[in-house]
Parts: sequence; structure tokens; C-alpha cells
Amino acid sequence: MPDYDAIIVGAGHNGLVTANYLARSGLKVLVLERRPFVGGACITEELFPDFRVSSCSYICYMLQDQVIEDLELRDHGFEVHQLEPYRFHPFPDGKYLLGWHDEKQTAEEVRRISPSDAKRYPEYVAFWEQAADILKRYFLKEPPTIAQIAADVRGTSDERVFERMLTGNTKELTEEYFESPEVRASFTDAQDAGDVRAPGSIMAIAYFKTAMLTDERNFGIPYGGMGGITQAMARSAEAYGVEIRTGVEIERISVTNGRAHGVVLTDSEEIASNVIVSNADPKRTFLRLVDPSHLEASFIDRIERLKNGVTYLKFHCALKELPDFSQHLGPDFDPQYLAQAKICPSVDYHEQSWSDAQRGDPSRSPVMSIQIPSVCDESLTPSGQHVMSVWVLYAPPQLREGSWDEANKRVGEHLIDTINGYAPNFSDAIIDWKLFTPPDLEERVYLTNGSIRHTDITVDQMLSQRFSHGASGYSTPIEGLYLCGAGTHPGGEVTGAPGHNAAQAILRLESN
Ligand SMILES: Cc1cc2nc3c(=O)[nH]c(=O)nc-3n(C[C@H](O)[C@H](O)[C@H](O)COP(=O)(O)OP(=O)(O)OC[C@H]3O[C@@H](n4cnc5c(N)ncnc54)[C@H](O)[C@@H]3O)c2cc1C
Repeated sequence: MPDYDAIIVGAGHNGLVTANYLARSGLKVLVLERRPFVGGACITEELFPDFRVSSCSYICYMLQDQVIEDLELRDHGFEVHQLEPYRFHPFPDGKYLLGWHDEKQTAEEVRRISPSDAKRYPEYVAFWEQAADILKRYFLKEPPTIAQIAADVRGTSDERVFERMLTGNTKELTEEYFESPEVRASFTDAQDAGDVRAPGSIMAIAYFKTAMLTDERNFGIPYGGMGGITQAMARSAEAYGVEIRTGVEIERISVTNGRAHGVVLTDSEEIASNVIVSNADPKRTFLRLVDPSHLEASFIDRIERLKNGVTYLKFHCALKELPDFSQHLGPDFDPQYLAQAKICPSVDYHEQSWSDAQRGDPSRSPVMSIQIPSVCDESLTPSGQHVMSVWVLYAPPQLREGSWDEANKRVGEHLIDTINGYAPNFSDAIIDWKLFTPPDLEERVYLTNGSIRHTDITVDQMLSQRFSHGASGYSTPIEGLYLCGAGTHPGGEVTGAPGHNAAQAILRLESN
């Protein structure tokens, strides 16, 4: 008799979600995590003595409302600090834009810069809401094909929007609605599409815009950092009998006659189970944890070709005081305005960031998403001091010349100099800093290539083409082996959706 009904390889948030749903359906579930704590890329770590930091993901904006309700996460300590404004965007000449959840309030901000752009802003928001809604309908379902969505939207006003999502690019869209360079820079986004001119980049961005439809109570900075989410998930899972073991690494998934039936740990311990669910990314799962003799060569080839080359940096620092943005916000600004800030002075700057990374170089024009969570959560730092984390676009997985270790100090100092150009006290306020490059993220979280969403979210790796074209959903060519992580539909970020969907697929397929 196997020891468990299901073993989950990895305690990322999706692994914890799958474990939870399976346990609630009466299965005996074991979660195995190689790090000493649960959470994967959704964690809080003490990176500097007495300073706790969300070391990877930093904003909770796409965690599915249904998952929060089903798993009763609020009862287990999940709570976010809602952000108003949700973003401060300073420009080098002292101008700035604030983004508010309220559309009218943001339109007023835009009006300070361009009255004609303010007029178009509601239409721009409406476009994205419609695009996001088209995708969101399929988030907690088996992945649809593009043809299925096309059939569903045929003859409705969504048809035109869906066509635009598939074929259009975010650069032209932003130019169509806005004329001011600052407003265009503020709303420019490419995420894993990288190139703002890439056809289909609207589809890729619509994935992230589903956050516009998130219940506002679930959008913000979690108390205790992002680890607050996965700690709540672990407590909820344990309340339903899930067993969680940390500090144990799986070396191999055992397969006999085409069926997975257990795992072998790096210390040679073997544990048997009816079902194995991998929360690791598809490349790690199929190219490292499964013996290739159990897979067809053509399948291995497709997994090797999965794209995971759009990667990023993460910079953290402990601060003795807040960066001084008074040249933008005036002398008495509300520190809460610094909870989230964006550095991207122009669309050209964004494009250069991408083209540098494409060439294999650290970006000369780092686009930054800055967060100072300690302005709303004092538990993270010693009194009066702060932590700042910066997600930086873009960075190649490997450098064309030299190694990331060699470049680390130089690249970190360039980020500091860039922020100093906006907040002149910044470098003096730093107590200590760390820069995580793509290889660091791979080593720390086992994200192959440092890919933060397991594989890139691009139009050709979404919906039924996720986790791979010809292999959609959660089951795999090996019977009894499933995937539940960010590499599956609908995709990455802290959503819980892949974990939810994987559990539903397992319950349906294994009960037959
Ligand atoms: C720098 C960075 C910034 C981000 N910012 C945001 C953000 O602000 N908001 C947001 O929503 N998302 C963000 N993301 C993306 C998001 O964090 C991830 O997409 C998501 O957390 C992935 O969750 P997961 O459970 O699918 O997988 P993971 O978090 O990757 O978890 C997989 C787990 O499996 C474990 N594992 C792998 N192999 C083995 C093995 N052999 N044995 C045992 N354990 C194993 C790993 O240690 C890991 O804990 C960010 C990610 C990064 C890295």
C-alpha cells in the first residue's frame, strides 16, 4: 500500500493550494519542500539582521478571490494592506503621476499632465477591463484553446477586443489613447513579452490586467510580507491534515510501466504515493526529476524548447530613512505614497531596457517597480527604519560577457545611482543591499533560468499551449504524474489558480 494518496513536490503557493483542495476531498497528502520553509517565490526572509523582506514576489494582486474563500485564508491570518495610491511615478524633471484605484481620481492626475489624455483615460481603462474579463473567465477552468474563446466571443463586443489582444501590441495601443510622453511611459508595460512592439503583447498584458477584477480587499501588500500568504496557506492545509516536510529535496520521481508511484529523496529515502504532483517548473520536472527513458524524445524536445528567457533582477536594501522624494511630492508628503513607485521616464527607456537584455547586457536603463512595504507594515523593520525592494526589468539569464557574480556590484550600484537621481538622499540612507540576479533566483528558489513564472507568459505559451503546445493542462505523459505550478494554465504570479485547477483535474481523473 502506498504511504500517501498524493505527494506534492514543492511547497510553493500553488503546491500548498493543490494539497489543500486534495485534503479537503479526503486524500492523504504529503508536501515536500527543499527549502527550510514553505512558500517558493512567495516568501518573507530576514535578508538583513532584523529586516524582513518579501524576497521574490512583493505585491498580492492576482490571488484568486475564490481560492482565498475556499481555503478560508482570512481565518488563517491572510490580510493585505490596501494601497491608495497604488503607484507613484516620478519623472526626472519633477513631474509625477499617481495611480489610484478610483478611475476618476487617476484621470484627474493625468489631467495635470495632459487634459486630452485625461479624456481618453476612461476608454483606455474600459479596453483593459474588457480584455482582462475575457481571460479571467477561463482562469479557474481547464485551459481553453484560442478557437474555443473565439467561438465564445463571436458576435459580441468582445470579438473585436479579442482580435486586438491576439494581434496588437502594447506600444501602439498606448499611443492610440495617449499623446503625452509621460502618460505613455506610465502606462507602458510588456512583462514577459519584453518587446512593447511584439504582436500579441496585448494578450500577454491582459493576463496581468485581470488584477483589475480582483476584489480590492485582496489587492495590496500582505501583512508580514508575501510569506504571510503562504504561511496562511500552510496553516489552512495543516488544519485539513496535510503533512508538510521542509528541508527535504526530491532527487527523482519513481516511474514503473509508465506510472508514477513515489519519490526518492536526495538522502535516498523512498516514499510511495498513488499520485505525484510537481510544483516545480516543467523543465525541472521533466528534464531533472524524471528519468528520460520514461518520456518520448519528441516530448523532451518540446520541454527543452519551452521559452523561459525573459528574466529580471530583484534588488533589496535596508534603509535608515525613507528616500526623499520631496522635489516631486513637496516637503510634507505622505510616506504611504512611497509604498509602490515606478521608474520609467519614457517609452524609449523601456525599449532600451529590453534591447540591452536581448543583447545579453545588464540594462543601462533599468525599469523599476519599487516597493517600500515598511511604510504600511512596521513589523518588518526596526522602528523608524525601512526596507525597499525593487523588481527590475530586464536582465538576461546569462550575460554575454562575464558572469552575473562579477557584474553584481556594478549593476547594483547603477540601480542605486538611478534611484539617487530622483531621491538624492537614497545612497546615504542605505544600511546594506543585495542584488538577486537570474542565477541567484535559480539557486534560491529552483526557478529554472531564474524564470519567475516558470515559463514566459507570451501569447504562444498561454491557454491550451501552457504548459506546452500539445500538452495542455495538468496531466502529463506519465500516468499519475501531474503539474500544478506557474508553468501551467493560467500562468505565473501568486494566483493559486494553477494549484486550484490541478487539484480539480486530479480529483476528476484519478476517481475514474
Ligand atoms: C523576483 C520575483 C518577483 C515577483 N513578483 C511578483 C509579484 O509582485 N506578484 C506576484 O503575484 N507574483 C510575482 N512573482 C511571481 C510569483 O512569485 C511566482 O510566479 C509564483 O510564486 C510561483 O508559484 P508556484 O507555487 O507555482 O511555484 P514556486 O514558487 O516556484 O514553488 C515551487 C517550489 O518547489 C520547490 N522545489 C522545486 N524542486 C524541488 C525538489 N526537487 N524537491 C523539493 N522541492 C522542490 C521549490 O523550492 C519551490 O519552493 C515574482 C517572482 C519573482 C521570482
